[in-house]
Amino acid sequence: MPEAKRDTLPRYCRECEVRFACHGECPRNRFMSTPMGEPGLNYLCAGYKHFFNHIDHPMRIMATLLRHDRSPAEVMRIIKHAKRWPSEERRPS
Ligand code: SF4
Repeated sequence: MPEAKRDTLPRYCRECEVRFACHGECPRNRFMSTPMGEPGLNYLCAGYKHFFNHIDHPMRIMATLLRHDRSPAEVMRIIKHAKRWPSEERRPS
């Protein structure tokens, strides 16, 4: 990653739980302010946060399946039979 793209991230991004996947996305889209008022937040942040948190559990399942030489496509059957999607427990009601 170019240093400028990394070094201009606001603290909100640097401490974000999904930064490893998002990295603040494209710098041209960073024209919002963080909840603390720091400039440089991507205007698509809420969507990225939701998306990357939503796919976290199935991605972990697929990684586990691959480590055990099984097809990652099995994730669909596993999730279908799960009582609840874990990421739904974190959502505000
Ligand atoms: S999800 Fe939002 S806070 Fe997290 S790295 Fe991306 S833009 Fe920054």
